[in-house]
Amino acid sequence: MPAQLSPVAPMRISDLCQAMEVYLSPTQTREVYRAYLFAAEAHEGQTRLSGEAYIYHPVAVAAILVQMRMDHHCLMAAILHDVIEDTSVTKIKLRQTFADEVVEMVDGVSKLTHLKFRSRAEAQAENFRKMMLAMTRDVRIILIKLADRLHNMRTLEVMPPAKARRIARETLDIYIPIANRLGINNIRHELEELAMAAHWPRRYQVMRKTLQRRRGNRREWIDDITRILSERLATDGLTAKVRGREKRAYSTYRKMQEKKCRFSELADVYAFRVIVDQVDTCYRVLGAVHNLYRPMPGKFKDYIAIPKANGYQSLHTVLMGPQGLPIEIQIRTGEMHVLAEQGIAAHWQYKGEREGSATADAAAKWLRSLLEVQQNTGDSMEFLEHVKIDLYPDEVYVFTPLGQIVELPRGATVIDFAYAIHSGIGNHCVAARVDQQLVPLRSQLRNGQAVEIITKQTASPKPGWLNFAMTGKARTGIRTYLKQLEVTEATALGQHLLEHELNCLGMQPEQVDPARRTEMLHELGYADLTELQQHIGLGNRSAALAARLLAFPKDQTRLSAPLSIQGGEGLLIHFARCCGPVPGDPIIAIFSHGRGMLVHHQHCPNSGEFRRRSKDSLEVQWDDQVSGEFHTTLRVDVGNQRGMLATVAAVIADSGSNIEDVRSEERDGLSLRLRFTLMVRHRKHLADVLRRIRALPQALKVGRVIG
Ligand code: MN
Repeated sequence: MPAQLSPVAPMRISDLCQAMEVYLSPTQTREVYRAYLFAAEAHEGQTRLSGEAYIYHPVAVAAILVQMRMDHHCLMAAILHDVIEDTSVTKIKLRQTFADEVVEMVDGVSKLTHLKFRSRAEAQAENFRKMMLAMTRDVRIILIKLADRLHNMRTLEVMPPAKARRIARETLDIYIPIANRLGINNIRHELEELAMAAHWPRRYQVMRKTLQRRRGNRREWIDDITRILSERLATDGLTAKVRGREKRAYSTYRKMQEKKCRFSELADVYAFRVIVDQVDTCYRVLGAVHNLYRPMPGKFKDYIAIPKANGYQSLHTVLMGPQGLPIEIQIRTGEMHVLAEQGIAAHWQYKGEREGSATADAAAKWLRSLLEVQQNTGDSMEFLEHVKIDLYPDEVYVFTPLGQIVELPRGATVIDFAYAIHSGIGNHCVAARVDQQLVPLRSQLRNGQAVEIITKQTASPKPGWLNFAMTGKARTGIRTYLKQLEVTEATALGQHLLEHELNCLGMQPEQVDPARRTEMLHELGYADLTELQQHIGLGNRSAALAARLLAFPKDQTRLSAPLSIQGGEGLLIHFARCCGPVPGDPIIAIFSHGRGMLVHHQHCPNSGEFRRRSKDSLEVQWDDQVSGEFHTTLRVDVGNQRGMLATVAAVIADSGSNIEDVRSEERDGLSLRLRFTLMVRHRKHLADVLRRIRALPQALKVGRVIG
């Protein structure tokens, strides 16, 4: 372990109380202390691997959150965060002792701890899902989890090296991207340094030494520039604080990897930060420094006018300094600085003064878009692929013909832009005009370009597009389209359906009279049997009817035995969202034009009309071997109290069902109507979920939504 990282002295409760008193009321501080007494008793006799009493860990986690000025409920949950997981204390016991809000946070953190690795990639995907759900419940759960991870990383040296490496890897893969996306940069930077030290100890040592040596050589020069900048700003009557910024080992290492170069080849860049009191002053400082040294073209970025996706705001510019050395400058207000350091956590500091911050908005927007992608894919590996791309905040900003800004990840191409505008544009695009120049779809976009997409109604997505489509939205759009049109799949399904119908009529496909077949294909206007099967598979043609035409020269009616559904949504068998049929329900399948078969609940009102037009529907039943999980929707009316959503969600999660979506509406001030879309295995599982929700004292009316 690196010697540079000083050992962390155990944080004592008295230190914590002192730090809290600065911004919390005496009552609130006492509440946190009460949580401490409870946790200390629960963890009594437990020690950490380092030998110190266990309670030091949760106190240290709370101390990190105190630095971020989190509220007292959050601090109480932080102190109690390992109590459910590691001691005999139950959630029920906690409920009797602390506010629901605190207990829900502790429970949320405990759930995130339950992550077990099968394969790394799979675990990551699952971890992300859980983090997402936790964040939508209460973002403070993630803040506690980040602080918990930070303290564990700070005290990693006691772990066996292999375990330390694994924890570092997980930190790099999951916690750092999340901290980054939520804009919590102080935690992110420290996690990066600690993770690099644990994962690549030798590289880390070398990098630190090299950076220190270089800094030593340039100390005087840096002091000079700081003085010159400060004096110039003072002369112009601008109040500002100028500081030299230290380069970190991890970010330098990343830059070397990205540019595929050695340390000596990295430009010798000196970084300074100017902090002022008002937004307007930022631009005046910019003018002043551009006057002092020549700005380098193409390096100026206005993140004040166009904040980054995580809410970050600042002006960035690079100047050509004395001796030809480039000087990188960031200019921001004090408030922007707190946001830049603490991201979404800064929200708690400005709460009351000003509702909502750029970061909180950006994070909420991001969460929404992630949930959208997840709904469209359903496959955790595919979901992770999108999330990974979306987590790195290096964006490009381009413009529509109407001058609207579109934000895309770095490396995004014309195709990504097209899908960002609308999936209809993406599905029909053929080329684009970028800054008036005609370019192919694979062209990468750069900041500030104006992009106009050229579409053609007959054009459609090609599998090759996936080679250069970068964003989750574009890849999902292309895949969705390709899946729908998967001709071979459609043909196979059509063949299956047709054979089944023939079997029901007591016939094997080989027994069909070839002359009759040719005649029938001619009648229906198909070139060959494959074409007919494809159309049956796509739902353009009824298999039952085609089978009858094949089997009997004159149309005779016969009842067919039901086709069995094995479960797990295939490409051309779908389950209707309106009624969410689950194994055990009576079902009916309906052909939808161009999309294959849609399986409805027999009582679904949406299936009634189709059923009357009987040739479009097919009698089906569940296979004995049915497996997988199925969407279904519940309506839950509860008393309108705080935390009800989280309570019901926890009950659902406890019964082993995943929540895919949730909506709530207030009905009359007294009651709240919640609609959950969740995944269940079969009717018995669903009945179990319903029974558990009904057992809640606050549940007024609980039922399933069909149609
Ligand atoms: Mn912990």
